[in-house]
Amino acid sequence: MAGIYVHIPFCKKRCLYCDFFSTTLLERQEAYIEAVIEEIKTRRDEAGEPIRTIYLGGGTPSTLSAEAIRQILAAIHAPEAEEVTMEMNPGDANATYLQALKEAGINRLSIGIQSFQDELLQHIGRRHSAQQAKEAVRMAQEAGFDNLSIDLMYALPEQTMAQWEEDITTALDLNIQHLSCYGLMYEPGTPLTQKMENGEIQATDEDTENAMYDRLCERMRQSGFRHYEVSNFALPGRESKHNSSYWDGTPYIGIGAGAHSYLPPVRSWNPDNLDGYINGIMAHSLQRESETLNEKDQYNEQVMLGLRTDQGVARSAIRRDIRPWIEAELLRETTGRIVATQRALHILNRIIEDLMI
Ligand code: SF4
Repeated sequence: MAGIYVHIPFCKKRCLYCDFFSTTLLERQEAYIEAVIEEIKTRRDEAGEPIRTIYLGGGTPSTLSAEAIRQILAAIHAPEAEEVTMEMNPGDANATYLQALKEAGINRLSIGIQSFQDELLQHIGRRHSAQQAKEAVRMAQEAGFDNLSIDLMYALPEQTMAQWEEDITTALDLNIQHLSCYGLMYEPGTPLTQKMENGEIQATDEDTENAMYDRLCERMRQSGFRHYEVSNFALPGRESKHNSSYWDGTPYIGIGAGAHSYLPPVRSWNPDNLDGYINGIMAHSLQRESETLNEKDQYNEQVMLGLRTDQGVARSAIRRDIRPWIEAELLRETTGRIVATQRALHILNRIIEDLMI
C-alpha cells in the first residue's frame, strides 16, 4: 500500500516563525492546481501499489476552494484510500466549506491551532484567534468529522507553564482524536528569529522547554493517548496512517512544488519554486532531483525514524554498541526492539547520531 502527499504552498499570511516553502501569491492557485492535476495523472501509479492514504499539506490547503480539493481527489481517484487528510487553518473553517470537504472525500482534518492564547498567537503571527480555533473544531465535529487532529506549539515567546497547561486542558476538552505538538524553533532568517536577535523577545530556556514537553507527554498519556511518535499523540487506533508510513518505509508519491517522493530505494523531489514547477509540469519537462539510498543510508534512516516512534528499531538491526545507552536508561529493550525512554526524548538527536554508521 502506498501514500500520496499533495503540497499546497499557499498561505494568506506568512507566520513569523515559518521557514517552509509557501507563498502568499493566491492568484497563482488556479494555474497551480492545473499543474498538480497534470502531475497526478502522470505519476499516480508510480508506486505500483493501491493508494492507502492521501495527505493534502502545506502551506495552507484550506486556502483552496472545496471544488479545487474535489478536483484533486477526483484526479487521484483512490476510492480504496482509508485515510484522506487535509490541513486546515482555523480561520478558513465554516459549516458550508466543511460539509463540502466531507462530500469531496476528506475524512480527517489536521487543524493548525498552535495556541489557545490570543496574545501568543499574535506573537508568532498566526492569522486566527483562539475562539476561531475552538469554533473550527466544533464546526468540524458538527459536519461529521470524527477523526480530528490539531497542532499545538510550546516554548512560544513569553509563554508560561500555566498557559501551556491551559492549552493542553483546552485541547483535551475538545474531544479530538490526535494531537501533534512541536517546540518553537527559531530558524535562521525568519522575522521571529530577527526579533529574538534584536532582543525584542526572549527564547524559552531549555529547562522550561523540556518541562513543558514532559508535562505534555504525562497529561496525554493520563488521558488515554498513545505517545506513538516524539511529537504525536493519538487515541488508540487513531494514529495517522499517512505519517506512520513515512516512519516505516512505505512508498509515497509527493505531488506539487517542493514535494518529496520515496519509492524505495529512491528518494526524489520536485523543485520548490512555484513558477518553475508549474511551467515544468505543463511543458512535460520538469527536472526532478533524486538520490538512491545505499545500504548505509537506509540503515541510518531506519535508526533515525524508528527511534522517534514507540515501536523503536529491531535489536538485530542495530550495528552500534547500545549498552551504554541502556545502562543510562536512555534506551530500553522490549520484545526484541530498542525503544527510547521518556528521558531520552530530550537528547534523542545525540543518541541517534551515535547509533548511525
Ligand atoms: S500557515 Fe504554515 S506554511 Fe503558512 S506561513 Fe504559517 S507556518 Fe508557514
